[in-house]
Amino acid sequence: MTKTNSKKTEKPQYKISIAAEILGISVHTLRMYEREGLIIPFKKDSSQRLYSDKDIERLNCIRNAIHEEKVSIEGIKRIFSLVPCWAIVKCSEKDKQNCSALNGHAKPCWTYKHENNFCTDRDCRECIVYNEYGNCGVIKEKLKELLL
Ligand code: SF4
Repeated sequence: MTKTNSKKTEKPQYKISIAAEILGISVHTLRMYEREGLIIPFKKDSSQRLYSDKDIERLNCIRNAIHEEKVSIEGIKRIFSLVPCWAIVKCSEKDKQNCSALNGHAKPCWTYKHENNFCTDRDCRECIVYNEYGNCGVIKEKLKELLL
């Protein structure tokens, strides 16, 4: 997957139509990426979606993976599912017992409904797991930092 430097800002600034235009995709496709859990846009009170430069970078990586490297959306979700979120946020043994994401391997942790564990009511958009490991272009480097 294409490596990115991930130095972009997290300021929510682009409406969905602008983000789609920057990426050269349709609003429909952008919404589909959200439904699939590949991206979590900022949501204002009005439920209007906003995207940051970092989101654009994430989405570009997803687009490259799909179009240049022929990885399917299911494949990208499986890659995200391998991120050891329990080690990053340091879940307790009790939390792990109540976590579907721990044993699941088909989708990212932030797409599960978490009940009675550490992630219940946490805002994934604000979480280090989504923010630092949710960009397919930097996952390998981040895992090296975590594990080596
Ligand atoms: S808060 Fe969300 S992104 Fe963070 S570890 Fe829990 S489910 Fe994953």
